[in-house]
Amino acid sequence: MSISRLARSIAPSPTFALNEEARILKERGEPVINMGIGEPKNKTPITAILSSAAKLSEGDVKYTPPDGTISLKKAIIRYTEENYNRVVAPENVIISAGAKQSLFNILFSILNPQDEVIILAPHWVSYPEMVKMVYGIPVIVTPEDGTFIPRMSDIEQAVSSYTRAIIVNSPNNPSGAVFPPELIAEIVNFCEQKKIYYIADDIYHKLVFDGVKAIPAFNFTDKDVENTMVITVNGVAKLYGMTGFRIGWVVTNRRLTEVMANVQSQITSCTSVILQSAAEGALTGMQNIVENLRLTFENNRNVTLQELSSFSGIKTIKPDGTFYCLPDFRAYSNDSVELSQFLLRKAMVVTVAGKEFGMEGHIRLSYAGSVKDITTGIERIKWSLDPNSPNEIYIGDRKMIRDWL
Ligand code: PMP
Repeated sequence: MSISRLARSIAPSPTFALNEEARILKERGEPVINMGIGEPKNKTPITAILSSAAKLSEGDVKYTPPDGTISLKKAIIRYTEENYNRVVAPENVIISAGAKQSLFNILFSILNPQDEVIILAPHWVSYPEMVKMVYGIPVIVTPEDGTFIPRMSDIEQAVSSYTRAIIVNSPNNPSGAVFPPELIAEIVNFCEQKKIYYIADDIYHKLVFDGVKAIPAFNFTDKDVENTMVITVNGVAKLYGMTGFRIGWVVTNRRLTEVMANVQSQITSCTSVILQSAAEGALTGMQNIVENLRLTFENNRNVTLQELSSFSGIKTIKPDGTFYCLPDFRAYSNDSVELSQFLLRKAMVVTVAGKEFGMEGHIRLSYAGSVKDITTGIERIKWSLDPNSPNEIYIGDRKMIRDWL
């Protein structure tokens, strides 16, 4: 069987693989706790359901323009005005199947083979693979000081004449870090000067805690949307817990929007009109849904930190946003893939190895689940690793005895 070298080189999404493993275990009746998952547990906002149901019952389910319906674009334009303080036109907006496709479209449309994209570790698992998929080269910049905040000098050093873009994801998956506004300002300035695209992956931008704000990159440039190098990506997946609706969007200059629409028209034609209607319902409906999710995650973050603090050896940098944290587990293992598999086998807790995010020795824990899942999950992890914790535990109905430490 012939499979291309490029396709062969693309790694599967580890988070999806783990979710599948967790699902199979659950189906078998195993008492598995999923702290690997990257989605809120809330029900779909009612305005999204009603809006998509209305579209469906009209029976008029057809293609939309490749870049999306005008009514969803209007809702996104309003969102952009309210949250980014920018007035943009429908020609500056393209709607895709999730922020994932939005990001892919951008990379496909701006990179030539061998062009480089700066990715800041810890980074979302898909960025390097997406860059590779369009024959680009991911250049990973890792903070050397043990924090999750990149240094401008490291970014500058990584830039070459082939650099076309830098992807900035703040609030950050997997660390939960929110980059300081001064750093965002510096990167934006640098990108504007060097004509490097600044791709702002803002998918978690409202999920921030303790009064911290994720100030949009747009705020740090006085160039208008047609001239700035700042490209903004957002979507309904995380803010409204609508991961399954697969709606994301890009706000950028008209030329790039048009090119991406051409690309999309040849690949998926358009995003489903039903799902676009749902996103419109969410964006124009009651916004307290987002605030409720934010409050839930802030509380869950506090519970997670509290539970982890009693765990000797584990170092956790307090997340300022998202629903993830990335504790340092090097006191127990330097091999995060092995450790994550061990935690699944022994403690029945799904986690994601830090290696997947460019942070070996760390483990990503999601606190998007219930408080009970968080406390039980961390108790089990502690039991499996920490010799100072009681050596008996109930996992489901089974009494387990730790006999490996
Ligand atoms: N960017 C980041 C940082 C993410 O964590 C995710 C989802 N895990 C996405 C983009 C993709 O979001 P969507 O579901 O809208 O494709």
